[in-house]
Order: sequence, then structure tokens, then C-alpha cells
Amino acid sequence: MSVPPPSPSDFPARRAAMEYVCTGCASRHSVDELLYTCPECGGVLLLEDPDFDALAEAGPGYWRGLFDARRATRTTALRGVFRFYELMAPVLEREDIVYLGEGDTPIVEASAALAASVGRRFAFKNEGQNPSASFKDRGMAGAFSYLRALVRLHGWDEVLTLCASTGDTSAAAALYGSYVGEPIRTVVLLPRGRVTPQQLSQPLGSGALVLEVPGVFDDCMKIVEYLADHYRVALLNSKNSWRILGQESYAYETAQWYGWDLAGKSLFVPVGNAGNITAILSGLLKLRRLGILPALPRLVGVQSEHADPVWRYYQAPAGARRFEPVTVRPSVAQAAMIGNPVSFPRVRLLAERYQREGGDFRVVRVTEQAIMDAMLLANRHGHIACTQGGECLAGLLAAVEQGLLDRDEFAVLDATAHSLKFAGFQSMYFDNSFPPAYGVTPDPGLVNRPEAVMDEERKRALTAEEFTREAALAVARRAGLRGRSR
Ligand SMILES: *Cc1c(COP(=O)(O)O)cnc(C)c1O
Ligand SMILES: [Zn+2]
Repeated sequence: MSVPPPSPSDFPARRAAMEYVCTGCASRHSVDELLYTCPECGGVLLLEDPDFDALAEAGPGYWRGLFDARRATRTTALRGVFRFYELMAPVLEREDIVYLGEGDTPIVEASAALAASVGRRFAFKNEGQNPSASFKDRGMAGAFSYLRALVRLHGWDEVLTLCASTGDTSAAAALYGSYVGEPIRTVVLLPRGRVTPQQLSQPLGSGALVLEVPGVFDDCMKIVEYLADHYRVALLNSKNSWRILGQESYAYETAQWYGWDLAGKSLFVPVGNAGNITAILSGLLKLRRLGILPALPRLVGVQSEHADPVWRYYQAPAGARRFEPVTVRPSVAQAAMIGNPVSFPRVRLLAERYQREGGDFRVVRVTEQAIMDAMLLANRHGHIACTQGGECLAGLLAAVEQGLLDRDEFAVLDATAHSLKFAGFQSMYFDNSFPPAYGVTPDPGLVNRPEAVMDEERKRALTAEEFTREAALAVARRAGLRGRSR
């Protein structure tokens, strides 16, 4: 392979002969077609650049230098998740790449007060600062860029995209679909009453066809799979391995943020359909293979007691592990409320590789109560963590308590979406109105509610000046303001 000098604004010239690789039977398939499962055994797929190891010839310094220089690029196609183009999907042309400002999210360290109350230094990576306010945009940038490449290749005049969702996948799919426009049309399937009002508003606002299904996410997923088997549709669930590629960028950005060295760090990730943790495993392994990372960090998946199939699997001793789907119960980590994760076979395969390469991979389990308390604690200290971000913090607290971390280990928690998407759970906590199935009781110390300064009737009885003075006095009294000294 010939290595051009690092010039951050040049679109890379090298194209790879990427292939789908089956996690079940290891068969390989061409990427000229959109495949979701293995045509031979039905297993889930991963995408591979068969010539990936040739990238190692340039040396880790070359790649670190190139990716660092590219942070200043003016080439739009390389400004988002494709800053790491060579590690992800080196089959796309520049004009295929869809960029809506995804990726490059900040890592915000916990304040001294929050770190003290948790007993650890740690940080949140704010995935809620993506355009549709969750990390799903990373994957959609990957999937829609590839779709555009396919449309160009085949000259298709209509492409119907379809996904089932716990809320954020459909928000992201609808956003990217509406941006790309013709010939793409977006259909999303949601479990009725199981996505938040904010999440529902997103695909509606983007103009997608939104279809509500009675049941939970797992029911929607079965319908989508049936449709994908019988009709011509582009599936945008994480069975679509192009999404996994896009989501690898989370791992690359985290490594880059810390100067390409994650030794002494652990990454906490909520696990639902397990696409995100698959992508992070895959991304970290690629960095290790090229020597860009000197060592693998600890990777900790977090699940709620109400949706814990992956935790159950790793809980069993190594020889006696068997995967069994679970029936989920209502969870505040609703975006991860999945009993039969599609990407589990990917996790099993990559986690084994991760451990062979000397990385520590584990899964911890937390209660619904711990998730809510942790989210509110974080948000009271300047974070924008959603319930799944709270789940990560609850996971950190559990890991500390179980002695799983080294003394000075620094944790990076994935705040997968913006807290605003899950404001309803905060309201239920503050109003003490959680249905019993959640098992959440508010800690009075974390509850906050608006208080009235004065009622309407009193206001009507006052002149404008009287109203201002009386209301100001009421505020001063309630807030404990002290008079100005003369
Ligand atoms: C999708 C999602 C998850 C779960 O990620 P998986 O890839 O399904 O494991 C967690 N948090 C948020 C906010 C999500 O949207
Ligand atoms: Zn197969």
C-alpha cells in the first residue's frame, strides 16, 4: 500500500474491498448488496476490510497524526464520524457521505463535588449533543452514506427505509432520511406508549410515516424482520452493520480525546440491543491492531434488572454460559429495554477477542432506583445525562462497590442521549407517580418542583406596581435574599 503524506483536507484515495462476515458461520459476502443476515445460516453480520492489517504499515504515529490534523479539516465529509474514514468504511465516495454535524461530542469531567460524592473521578461523553440528541446519529451517518452509494450504484428510483425503535433509532433514521430526501422514504415502527413524547415528536416532525404497534420493542423487531424477509426494504436497525461501523467512531473519539492512550481508564456503556457496545468493542480492537492504542481499556456494559439478558449470560461461569432472551419489565432506561438483543452474537465474538488481546470486558447490573437516583445526581451537577447515562453512573457506583476497578481508574461514561428526551421520567420521580412496576421511590433530597409566587386572584386585586413589589418580596423571602447594606 502506498502511503500519502497526512493532508487533513484531502479525501482519502484508498478504497477497500469490504465484505460482510458472518458471526455464525464465518462466510463472507459482497457489499454490493444490502444484507442484514447471513444468506447461509441466518447469523448477524459484521463488516470487514480484508486488507485492514496493511494499514499497520504506515505505523501508529502516522494515523494519530492524520486523525489529529483532520480535526481542523474544511472537508465536510471528513468533519463528522468519517474523520476516521480509513478505519470505518473506505468504500464510500466523498459525495455519498451524509454529514449533519454528528460526532465530535465533548467529554465533560465530573465536578469535584460530584466526583467526591461518587468516590471517583470520572467523565461523561455527551452523546446527547448529536443532531437528533442521541448516539444513533453516528450509525445513521454510516447507514445513509452507504445507502446513497447503493442508490448511485444501482440507479434505484425508490428506497423505503424501515426500522423498529425504542425511540432514538427512529428519530435518527427520520432525520437523516428527510435530509437525503428522494429517492428515500422513511417508515418507523414504534411500540405504542413505550417511547417518550419527545422521541415520538422527532420522526413526526421529520415527516416520516410513523406506525405504532401494540407491545414492546421486541414485538416491533419481529415485524420488521418479517417485512425484511418478504419485501424490498432497507432495514435501519442495528442488524444493518453499516450502523455499527458509524458507531465505532465513539471509540476513536474517546481514544483521541485522551491522546490515544486509554490505559488506566474504563468505559461504561448501557446495553440494550447491544449495537453500541459491539461498535465500541470493534473500534477499540481496530485501534489496538494498528498499535494506535498501546493497551485496551476496561469495557463495562451496564444493564437494568428489568432487561438483563447480557448480564445473565456473562454472570454464568465461562464453561456454562447459555444465552436466553428475557421478558422485559418496565424500565426507566427505556432505550435499552430489550430482552433479546440482536447484536448479542457480535458481542460474544468480539468480547472473546477483546479478552484475548488483554482487555477486560464485563457487564454489571443495576436497579431502576439506582438509575434514576444517579441520573438526577449527575444532572444536579451540570450534566445532561439521560436515564441511560444515569444507568452508566449507577454501573460505576456498583463497580466501585464490588471492587472491580483499580484505585485510580478513571471512568468515561456514555451519556447516550440528551436528558430532555427523558424528561417524563424526571417528572414521575418528582411527582412520585411511577407505576409500581418500575419499583422507583423518590429520594426527597433529589426532588425538585416549581413553587407559585402568588396566585392569579391576588394578582388581579393589585395594581401593577403593587404586584411587582409584593411578588418581589415573596421571591426575596422564599429565596432568603438579604437587603443591600448601605
Ligand atoms: C439505543 C440506545 C441505547 C441502547 O444501545 P444499543 O446499541 O441498543 O445497546 C442506549 N441509550 C440510548 C439513549 C439509546 O438510544
Ligand atoms: Zn452464516
